[in-house]
Amino acid sequence: MSVYYSLEQVNEWVRVANTKSVQVSDEMRGWRWHDYPLQPAYSAQLGVSDITNGLCDSFRYVYLKYVERIRQKDNEELQKGSLLHEMHSKANEAAKRNILKIHWERGKLTPESFHESFVQDKQKVVEQAKSKYTLIPQEELERAVNTLWTRAAINYGAALNSALSVSKHLESPDPLIALVAPVITEYPIDGTKVGLTQAIRADGFIPPGIIVEIKTHPPLEANKYALAGYALAYEAQHNSPVNYGVFVHVEYDWKTGSFTVHPKITPITDEMRQGFIEMRDQAQKIVAQKIDPRLPPKCNSRCPYLKHCNPP
Ligand code: SF4
Repeated sequence: MSVYYSLEQVNEWVRVANTKSVQVSDEMRGWRWHDYPLQPAYSAQLGVSDITNGLCDSFRYVYLKYVERIRQKDNEELQKGSLLHEMHSKANEAAKRNILKIHWERGKLTPESFHESFVQDKQKVVEQAKSKYTLIPQEELERAVNTLWTRAAINYGAALNSALSVSKHLESPDPLIALVAPVITEYPIDGTKVGLTQAIRADGFIPPGIIVEIKTHPPLEANKYALAGYALAYEAQHNSPVNYGVFVHVEYDWKTGSFTVHPKITPITDEMRQGFIEMRDQAQKIVAQKIDPRLPPKCNSRCPYLKHCNPP
């Protein structure tokens, strides 16, 4: 299993989402955002990850970010997570861009020219990552980018081969892009109707309605509600149901460069939606009433406010 999903994998998720029904009450659909229990009681707009990152059980994280407006302090673990997320979206973009670019420049796309262009992008990606993720040891950073980019080149190259072998008539770029890179990464959703920010971004979206959420650390209990947050916002914006999400846990070993991917297709049930709404209400109340909830029994070592809340 790769973190760069093939059309076959995506089709399998779509098949499950279309054939296994999920019972969702109409009142828990995002398009009922103006009624109880979805209607936000406060005007504060928050990010899905701020509510569901699970770093801070007391939600002091939200208080510091939105009320005190304290700058977050990056740490190595957070940067590593961000880098893995960025590799996911950048490689997906590179696959689409290279199909378009080669087709426009040369009029004909071959698996060889695609692979060559993809590999040529790698050095630029390494340099950009080095200047952005300065807390990651350089050797580990280069290994991660090399590993993930090489894997992406192989996977997308195989997908292109497969698409071209289906039919010679698929040489125009648009259908090829849809077959080679079927996931839309960093998918923007307007969350304002359900008390979220205007430009929340799901890690991935698969038409006609599957949300992808990636986690690069062992998943925390709160993380699972992120899928419900994106689903509610999507339903509120588009009046179209989202019944399933795919929760992808990427386990990457920074010392050896090996990784495993655990995707889990997850029904977005009433219980998940209710859980998300309760967390949203709690977080919004803290912001609206400017209540400092104080420290939880245990702070997460990845929290960007660790030094602020626990000064030496
Ligand atoms: S350091 Fe602790 S109290 Fe402060 S935001 Fe993070 S988890 Fe919460």
